[in-house]
Amino acid sequence: MRILVLNSGSSSIKYRLFRMEDEAQLAEGHVDRIGEPEGLLVHRAEGAEPVRETRPVRDHGEGLRDILAALVANGALADTADLGAIGHRVVHGGEEFTTAVRVDEAVMRTISELVPLAPLHNPPNLHGIEEARRAFPATPQVAVFDTAFHQSIPPHAYHYALPRSAYTDHHVRRYGFHGTSHRYVARRAAQHLGRPLEALNLITLHLGNGASATAIAAGRSVDTSMGMTPLEGLVMGTRSGDVDPAVNFYLQRATGMSPAEMENVLIRESGLKGLCGANDMREVHRLAAAGYADARLALEVFCYRIRKYLGAYYAVLGRVDAVVFTGGIGENDHTVRSCSCGGLERLGIRLDPERNAAPCRDVLEVSAANSEVKVFAIRTNEELEIARQTLVCLGQS
Ligand code: ADP
Repeated sequence: MRILVLNSGSSSIKYRLFRMEDEAQLAEGHVDRIGEPEGLLVHRAEGAEPVRETRPVRDHGEGLRDILAALVANGALADTADLGAIGHRVVHGGEEFTTAVRVDEAVMRTISELVPLAPLHNPPNLHGIEEARRAFPATPQVAVFDTAFHQSIPPHAYHYALPRSAYTDHHVRRYGFHGTSHRYVARRAAQHLGRPLEALNLITLHLGNGASATAIAAGRSVDTSMGMTPLEGLVMGTRSGDVDPAVNFYLQRATGMSPAEMENVLIRESGLKGLCGANDMREVHRLAAAGYADARLALEVFCYRIRKYLGAYYAVLGRVDAVVFTGGIGENDHTVRSCSCGGLERLGIRLDPERNAAPCRDVLEVSAANSEVKVFAIRTNEELEIARQTLVCLGQS
């Protein structure tokens, strides 16, 4: 069966096509700047010349039709009937969705009811599903939620110490995100260790533009650093992560910023960018190497926050079998890995500098031979995980 995985943003659609019999990726690409005067279409397929076109793409419906046309033109699909299912990434599934679900009217309604919890992400995800259902009414569509893996977090870890009504009336609690990635790398680590995931305690660190840490006990998420929204926890490219909530009110009073302006500062002007002006980790390294003290500080704050969560989740789990780094930074940045794990030898976490400096192609073991806790860099593949869950949801796995 061929499964198309879609990640719909406000003005973009990213896609990957998988052949599930051998989990081969047949094609990938994206349509950007939808609704703008000049759109961009990029398609890459096995054994075909990459395609890059600039032209207007009116709306998501047109973008989807372009994607399907490209998949048929480059031979990845014989025709649209060759498509077994579409798996959609949906950011927020609230408490309603603990696994992937086949999309129907009731599911669409529930995802739209969750919009207040994820106003930036759920509307474009929902719009992508609507357009895909319109364009391919005969193809089964499955929604896979970023939050679902974290629905196993127990109440003492998902409740904030706020008045009860914040939870009962307004659904304020920790939901957690990046669940598909944490689940994928956890499974990959278990495969690599040759042990069942259900027997393992892991700390997984997804470090990309967004960043989150997850404590996994016996294969299930029991705590994660992102909270009601993806703003809490680790330092990110432009997001602050943990901050004293009173800073918010203090800065609004001190500067005259509105709540919306303050929210923008915390989401888009903070993190690495706030600390040193650069949100891309490679740029932060370049600036630090060129002697910019702010960039060095940004690196230190970034790694210190990770180290703090490693210690916290060690305490949560009691026993840790492995720590897994993933995401663009986690997979590629050996300096961040060594700085984050520095000084944790007493916890049984010891890196091997040579192994740590090697490139990560799939699974790279970076811990020293005598490290009690294994440390890995593992390339994530959220799209393949979405395709797998789509297949499981349709009962064909
Ligand atoms: P997203 O969260 O948007 O999926 P990625 O997982 O691709 O993003 O991560 C993007 C981050 O990874 C950026 O900060 C980028 O600088 C960083 N990154 C990518 N490659 C490297 C590398 N070789 N060394 C250090 N950082 C890297």
